[in-house]
Parts: sequence; structure tokens; C-alpha cells
Amino acid sequence: MNIELNFANTTAILVFDRKDSSANIFDSATLEELSERLDELVAQPDVDGLLIRSEKPNIFIAGADLKELSTARGEKLSALISTGQSLFNRIADLPYPTVAAIHGACVGGGFELALACDWRVASDSTKTKIGLPETQLGILPAWGGTTRLPDLLGLQDALAVILSGKLHSAASAKRKGLVDEVVPVEHLKTFALSYIKKGKRHHTHNPITHNQAVAALIRVQAQKELQKKTHGHYPGPEAALEVAVGSVGRTRAQSQQAELDAIGRLATLPETAQLIRLFFLQERAKKHQHTSAESRQIRRAAVVGAGVMGSGIAYWFSTRGIETTLQDISDEALGKGMKSISGLYADAEKHHVLSKTEAARGLDRVHPASGKIPLQNCDLIIEAAVEDISIKRKIFADLSARCRPDTVLATNTSALPIHKLAASISNPERLVGLHFFNPVHRMKLVEVVRTEFTSDETLATAVEFVRKIGKLPVVVKDSPGFLVNRILMPYLVEAAAMFEQGGDPEEIDKAMLDFGMPMGPLRLLDEVGLDVAMHVAETLAAAFPDRMHIPKVVEKLLADGHTGRKGGSGFYIYDNASPAVNAEAIGFRTGTEETPDDAQQILSSLMATEAKLCLEEGIAESSEEIDLAMILGTGYPPFRGGPLANS
Ligand code: NAD
Repeated sequence: MNIELNFANTTAILVFDRKDSSANIFDSATLEELSERLDELVAQPDVDGLLIRSEKPNIFIAGADLKELSTARGEKLSALISTGQSLFNRIADLPYPTVAAIHGACVGGGFELALACDWRVASDSTKTKIGLPETQLGILPAWGGTTRLPDLLGLQDALAVILSGKLHSAASAKRKGLVDEVVPVEHLKTFALSYIKKGKRHHTHNPITHNQAVAALIRVQAQKELQKKTHGHYPGPEAALEVAVGSVGRTRAQSQQAELDAIGRLATLPETAQLIRLFFLQERAKKHQHTSAESRQIRRAAVVGAGVMGSGIAYWFSTRGIETTLQDISDEALGKGMKSISGLYADAEKHHVLSKTEAARGLDRVHPASGKIPLQNCDLIIEAAVEDISIKRKIFADLSARCRPDTVLATNTSALPIHKLAASISNPERLVGLHFFNPVHRMKLVEVVRTEFTSDETLATAVEFVRKIGKLPVVVKDSPGFLVNRILMPYLVEAAAMFEQGGDPEEIDKAMLDFGMPMGPLRLLDEVGLDVAMHVAETLAAAFPDRMHIPKVVEKLLADGHTGRKGGSGFYIYDNASPAVNAEAIGFRTGTEETPDDAQQILSSLMATEAKLCLEEGIAESSEEIDLAMILGTGYPPFRGGPLANS
């Protein structure tokens, strides 16, 4: 049995505890069980309230069984959705008060069940995550969520939750009105039971704001914002917007019929298939074993180089409980790095990602160190100094002399051949690449680079460590540019060449924004920094001279002091809110050709071609991993599924 019905005096308690699983999910069998338990419940006399809770340590209910949902079509899908809707409606229509006691993940269908209750009380645990992520999977909350949330919060606030698909901490869920109270986990059941005494929830809408005329205005604004964000590529949020807006003024039955119709249509779209595939690829990356070797624990780490990447990495490590020493040869750089880390903690606190105490404790875990302090207690050291192989060699030789012989030695190099560092250290089987992306706190991907020297144990330790700190690892071969930069760079270089030949920068960038990239290639070059990009491009051009020719315009821009956004100018000028084309850059063009009509096709097929070569060369294990890495590492449009999704 996955659901039990118990009683505490006259209060009924539904306890979710899926057998042989760490998570509670809703599949057809569980829905059927819920139906049976509700039959038993309504047959009981003298019940005065219902509490719903989970017995799992980290999960309330994680939502629908995505395997079942993503393969169901037509009548089967209809039956699955309408069964969930009618079961949750039965709970909503019970004559006595109902409360959800939420601890752990309360996501998608799990939150839709909680929404069907009168009251929601959540634990203040960091494991509590609440939200409706369906639109991120190309669908919409269709078990009554798109109907009930606007009713509970008002249309505008409900749209913010549904269209973003974000998961919220308990505190943020309380602020947004998703839950009524947040309490320490040990008091959750007692507090939840006390809500039964409050009776049924009665809330009336403000007729001035909750009407179809206002809903129509909100719709226009929300559509505009959505279009700006998605460029019309994501039918899931668009459909959710229509159903949520329509729910104002419709009966529950009419609005839930609209949910049902929308999900039936969305389920057949290729975009939805790609987004659900991406979800499963991420799940696989969380678990896939690359070797049978045992991993070792990493408790203490050191980061060498306190620049953009080093400080970002030290911040991230410390947020995840890792005691981290941060080193730099320059005291000024170390000071700047620590300032940037404090800034990141202040931001996390401001946006309620971390509490004041968590932020203070995290910052205490970063230990700045100038000079040669002992590194004997470090389990892992990652080098994030300048991109120069001779400097990196010296750093590795010095580290090797100062740390334990089993300390994992990693480099964050963007493109340099990592095996060239092996001769500088003892026990080179502990050498590995850990390629974090910028900005570290936002980018989920880490390329774990396996060299010819890396042992299985080092690889397993690096992969597990990346997972432990909440990032997703993709294991790649030690080859110039590894995977992501190798595929991205020919595309960026071709965009620069198109510009040099006379192309219009805004047209080139728009072509790829229309493709679904989060930023055009020339804007991205400016963002990365033309000097940094040049370094990577040179490494790749040396390795693949037949395919990579760096256009002179990049050199000319750099020589003239245009380093990109960080220096105030590159292909664009950055002294206003929105960047304007840099007239000096225009002056460096040598050709007079207009932007090709098929710029999008030319640029996107370069990524597909290079991705195929990477697969053939075994740079990553599978085409799925290449797709995942490109989506997470470059923002390659998720709805397209990656450069190899359709090959
Ligand atoms: P950065 O210039 O911001 O920082 C480099 C830091 O290393 C500086 O503070 C410098 O003082 C310090 N340093 C130089 N020599 C040192 C030494 N011998 N010992 C200790 N510290 C030393 O550079 P960054 O952008 O943070 O890049 C660092 C590394 O990460 C490079 O290998 C780069 O290719 C790679 N990377 C960069 C990005 C990015 O977007 N910036 C992304 C991924 C990887």
C-alpha cells in the first residue's frame, strides 16, 4: 500500500509512503489507491477534519510519474488527467476542513493536491521545496492547479508562479501565499492539526481586481513579458497563461476542461518531447556511474586564483558546506575575490536563497590565504589562475609539494591540454579537470575532464563531488576545448567572420535569438571577454587548423582596447542600459556583404557539425550527454533538445 488512512480521534490522516521508493509520486495505481482511501474516508461517520502528510524524510509528493505521463496519449492521457482532477475535487469538496502538512519536495501534482486542501502548513527545512514546474516541461498544471492557484492568489501572482515554474523555499512560498504557515519540522503535525480548528477556508475575491476585464489586461502584459523571454518557442507557458486567464469567470468544471484540452494538445508537440527528454537526461546525469571505483569524501578544499572563476568556485563550495581556502599571488586580487564572495552571499540573503545565519556560516567557511600556507588537510585543490600553461605548471609543481600525495588536483582551465600538467606533479593519477562555467553560482554544468593519467578513483571522486555540491557532471575527454567550448567556438568565430565580411551585428545576433539562444553570438563574445575568447579560439585553431580561422577583427578590437563588456566596449558599447553597436567596431569590418539570409542555418549547423565530430572522437560518452552539456553550458535552446537531438 502507498497511502494509509489513519485516525487521531475524529481527525482523519492520509499518509503517503510509497513502498520500495525514496519518493512519493502519482501514477495510475496510486491515484486508484487514493480513490479507495477516499471511499473509506467518506464512509466513516463523525470525521471532523483531514490531514494529509508524507512519511518520507525528504519528500511530500514529487508530482506525477513523468514516465507514465510522457508516454500517455489520447484517451489514456485524458483518463489520467481527469482522474487526478476528480480525486482532488473530492478532497476540495469534503464538508470538513482539510490541511496539507508539507515537509520536503511538494512539487507539481503534489502541490496541486495541497492546493485542493483548505490549508497548507510547511516545515522550515531547506528540503522543503514548493512549486509547479510543469511549464518547464512543456505542459501545464492540469490536475486543477492552473484553476485553483489564480483563485487562491489572484491571477497576477498565480501567473508569476505558474509561468516561471520555479520551486520555492518554505519562506518564499509563505511570502507568495502558497502556504499559510511555516513551522519547525518537529512541530509540523501539531500546527497542521491546529488548522483543522480554523474550519473551512472562506475567501472572497475582490470584485474590482478579480474580473474578466482586469484579467484581459493582465493577459496582454503577461503575454508581452512571455514573448520577450521565450520568443514564442515554448507552447507550455503560453497554454498555461490562456487557461489561467480563462479561469477567471469560468466554473471550476469549465476551467478544468480547458486544462485537460491544453495538456492533450501540448503532449503531442515536439517541444514538449524535448523538454521531457531533457528532464530525464538531467536525472541520468545525477546518477550515472562512469566507473565501478569507489569515490572518496571531499571535506576540505583549496582554490588557487581568486579571480572571476576562483572566487565564484570558492563561494559555491562554501555554500555547500565545504571548508575552502582561497589563495592568490596578489593580495589585491584576494581582497577583490573575498569582496565578490561577500557580495554573492549578500545577494543570496537579499533574494531569500539563504537565511542570514546560513549566509554568515557560509562566508565563515572561506579562508583567504596569501603566502604559502600548508595544504595537508585539503582533499581537493582546484587551480583557477590565468590561462597560461607555463604558469599552471609552476602552480601544480608547488601544490604537489605542499599537499598530501592523495589530494585530488584539479584545474579549471577552459581549453588547455590538462595532461601537460602531469609531469609537474607526483602521483598524476589524481589529476583531473573540473571545468566550471561562468557565473559559477548560476551554471549547473561542470565538465569533468578525464586525462590519460586520471585514475578511476579520481574520476569517481570528482564526479561524486560535483553532484554533492549540486552541479551536474558531464565526463569528457582531455582534448582541446573539451566539449562545450569546442562546439561553441566555431559558431562564435563564424559569427565574428560574418560581421567582418560586412554583416550587421544586430541582425546576426537576432538570427540566433530567433533560433532560441539566450544571447546572440557577438553579444556573447563581448560577455565572455574578447581576450578570454581569443585564448580559447587560439588553442582550438592550433589543434584544428583546417576548421578554425580567427577573423582579424577580434585582434583589431583587442588591440584598440575593446575587451568586451568588462572593458565597456566590444562589438557593442555598454554605457547605457541597452548596448548599442560600437561604431569603431563597424570601422574594422573589411567586407561589404550583407548579413546572409540563412545566417541562422549557417551558424547553428556549425554547432551540429562540431558536435558530431565530438561524438565520433569519443569526447563524451553519448550524443545525449553532448546535448545536455550544450543546453546547460551554453543555453542551447532546450526546446530543440540539443545539437544532436534530431540527427
Ligand atoms: P582571472 O584573471 O579573473 O583570475 C585569475 C587569478 O589568478 C588572478 O586573481 C591572479 O592574480 C591569479 N593568479 C595568477 N597567477 C597565480 C599564481 N601563480 N598563483 C595564484 N594565483 C595566481 O581569470 P578567470 O577568468 O577567473 O579564469 C581563471 C581560469 O578559469 C582560467 O584558466 C580560465 O581559462 C578558466 N575559465 C574562465 C572562465 C571565464 O568565463 N572567465 C570560464 C571557465 C574557465
